[in-house]
Amino acid sequence: MIPRQLVLLACLTFTTPFAHATELADEDDIPVSRLAEPQPESKADPQPEPAGDGRDSLMLLGEEVQAGEFLTLYWKPVQSFQSIDTPVPVLIAHGKQPGPRLCLTAAIHGDELNGIEMVRRLMYQLEPANMRGTVIGIPIVNLDGFRRASRYLADRRDLNRHFPGSPNGSAADRIGHSLFSDVIRQCQFLVDLHTGSQQRVNLPQIRGNLKDEMVFDFSRHFGGITVLHGVGAKGTLRRAANDAGIPAVTMEAGGPHQLDESAVDAGVKSLETLLQNLAIQDSKRFWSSPQPVFYQSDWVRANQGGILMSTVKLGDKVREGQVLGSVIDPVSNTGSAILAPFNGRILGMAVNQVVQTGFATHHVGVETAAEKVQEEAIEQDLSVKEPVPPGDCVADNADAGNSVSDC
Ligand SMILES: [Zn+2]
Repeated sequence: MIPRQLVLLACLTFTTPFAHATELADEDDIPVSRLAEPQPESKADPQPEPAGDGRDSLMLLGEEVQAGEFLTLYWKPVQSFQSIDTPVPVLIAHGKQPGPRLCLTAAIHGDELNGIEMVRRLMYQLEPANMRGTVIGIPIVNLDGFRRASRYLADRRDLNRHFPGSPNGSAADRIGHSLFSDVIRQCQFLVDLHTGSQQRVNLPQIRGNLKDEMVFDFSRHFGGITVLHGVGAKGTLRRAANDAGIPAVTMEAGGPHQLDESAVDAGVKSLETLLQNLAIQDSKRFWSSPQPVFYQSDWVRANQGGILMSTVKLGDKVREGQVLGSVIDPVSNTGSAILAPFNGRILGMAVNQVVQTGFATHHVGVETAAEKVQEEAIEQDLSVKEPVPPGDCVADNADAGNSVSDC
């Protein structure tokens, strides 16, 4: 058992790439639209209480965790070769009383730092002696990418497209399979923490497949946070977890390569509310109100390349036709304005940067009743003609509606 004192991450240096933003093929930030969604085989039954939970000890990663104990265990993905592989820390707070088992994963993309800090703040306020259920937190899933300040694995693959993985596939498939079978299958609820990517920032928000009744219910446990519908691209952790019958959402907050105090604080408050609502632990602060705010949303794209300068801020309310920013060709001094397509709120946006034509610049959402968001999600699903290729998490085709994927 380790002492539960504050452990500061020190002596970490990052190289922050400020390369000009381009729309990469794997730009996977942005809402893909209406994927035909295979439904999980059985979604009616909540996860059974796994043997060994609650007052009993918990077997995880080959170790036994006693009720009322806080432990750090290690998950060992075989990434390069055994002599130099570094085990990934997994924090476990196993409550004295029975209750739900909640998992938190962060930094599947190694350059997304806000979630790492959220997991730390949440895990080290837990009191297993007074807790009901179990919280399992993995602060840095992609330790290899984190060291290189990179979103990707060493082979440039995006780990969040390789779940549930395969024991015989690519390196990413094997890592995905290892995490999924060793840890994720033990979870009864999952929150996967992310930020925007490709120099985009997001207002703290929950994304989930709201067509799935279990996910819809789960998404309403987070207090007054923004909630968006998104099926999740194939291979994402949350989609694989959903398909395995585990209610899972992603939480997006802020942007990559930065630690944003307000985003972290809002995310932690939302997770504290979740602890309260799942009756795992009474939180010192939680949102009894307002309730989650559901949005329908769309990305606005630049109609020309050049230097993007926004005139709005994250969270601003905007009116239809309002100038959100402009893109200017620095040589010819010609430019064009980016206009709000409807009244709404800025839920995500690109930071000022050089962009190419078609770059998604502003994510505008319209507040909508939760049930209506769910209804529309189901209707979209029925109207899908053919699946959209995964890999882009901004709305990226003519059909692109309000579906969002993970960043
Ligand atoms: Zn991410």
